[in-house]
Amino acid sequence: MNVKKNMDILNSIWNKNEGNSLICPQCKGTLTMIQLDPILDTEGPYTPYKTIIECSSCSFTLETESFTILGSVKDFDEESVELGSWSPSGVRVLSKYKHVLNPDLLKKLKKSGELVEFIIVNNQVVQVIG
Ligand SMILES: [Zn+2]
Repeated sequence: MNVKKNMDILNSIWNKNEGNSLICPQCKGTLTMIQLDPILDTEGPYTPYKTIIECSSCSFTLETESFTILGSVKDFDEESVELGSWSPSGVRVLSKYKHVLNPDLLKKLKKSGELVEFIIVNNQVVQVIG
């Protein structure tokens, strides 16, 4: 599968209106994301991991890359979200990513300034943990 196709599938997995659930596009079963080996030859401040997304009920699997950021929501709009966080070396970083998150959740996080973990897949924020 090529990258474009993967992104289309990823977008359908993280449906904006279904909160944090990962739903299989084939059987509507539950998807699990598994981070494997770190990918070391990257330029960003965070280390991406080779990542497998697989369904617990059918044969659906998708290989991609992902990383997590501990940070807070500084600002957001329909398309993108700005996160305030720290790089692994302790430098304060503001970074902007596309997102598929629920606007109500983002509004809440922006207001509270709460530190949570964001999962970024293919440079898109797909899930919040915490
Ligand atoms: Zn499935």
